[in-house]
Amino acid sequence: MRRQSLAFTAVVVMFAVWTAACAPGGGERETQSAPAPEPTPPLEGLAKGIAQGHMQVIDLAQRLTPETPIIHLPPPFANTPGFKRHEISNYDAKGPAWYWNWIEVGEHAGTHFDAPCHWVTGKGKACVDDLEAKEFVGPAVVIDVSSEAAKNADFVATRQTILDWEKNNGQIPARAWVILRTGWGSRANDAKAFFNAGSDGSPHYPGFGKDSAEFLTKERDILGVGTEAIGTDAAVGATADPPFPNHSIMHGAGKFGLTQLANVDKLPAAGAVIIAAPLKIQDGSGSPVRVIAIAPSR
Ligand code: MN
Repeated sequence: MRRQSLAFTAVVVMFAVWTAACAPGGGERETQSAPAPEPTPPLEGLAKGIAQGHMQVIDLAQRLTPETPIIHLPPPFANTPGFKRHEISNYDAKGPAWYWNWIEVGEHAGTHFDAPCHWVTGKGKACVDDLEAKEFVGPAVVIDVSSEAAKNADFVATRQTILDWEKNNGQIPARAWVILRTGWGSRANDAKAFFNAGSDGSPHYPGFGKDSAEFLTKERDILGVGTEAIGTDAAVGATADPPFPNHSIMHGAGKFGLTQLANVDKLPAAGAVIIAAPLKIQDGSGSPVRVIAIAPSR
């Protein structure tokens, strides 16, 4: 079943019916004695769908805590701080009627957004504050490689991985978020399991690589890619040529990254829409982000 094509067709038909209904002096309509019931416009349908439970809103963010795993780079590279919360007042003498904190956090901590300017190949390209709001919203392509990742923690997505998804779901729609479903999100609160260091001391987790990034940036029209692990590249990308090839190619092409996603297993392979809006930090290379998806209820 080409579910994505069906869902897309349904939306197009709904929109066409609505447009026709709104068109002035629509030929046959004038001869009808009783007016046809007005079809629900798509946006109203979405809002009603959420209110009535036909549509669900899925939270794709992990909770940001002082224990949230943070990437560790070897010397001589600098590392990012994680998340820390500092209390300002808590309904006490410092503020009897209010509770608030100030926070310190790296731009690339927890579930976060990678902007093109994060990478040297994207130097001079967009940072988070340069992006238009429409660039945060796109159809979700969810590629399930969880059984491969369970067998091989160093799994790297390739062009073929994506072509296999397209065989069942149709071609990746324009301006899509391409999400790699690996099952890694279940390790998010256990840093040891999340980094999965081998006897060599190196981490092992799945992700995108050079082959998939070249295909997605050159032969498809996407917003960016997302993973459940610490970065969009697989761990083995650290020693690849170029290093972290997905970051290098994706950001060089002006595309985005989403990492440490949660609840990816709750997404359909196709038919959901993802909204990932980073904080509008001046010259920010990224930002923690509450990624959400809207999908038909199952
Ligand atoms: Mn990042």
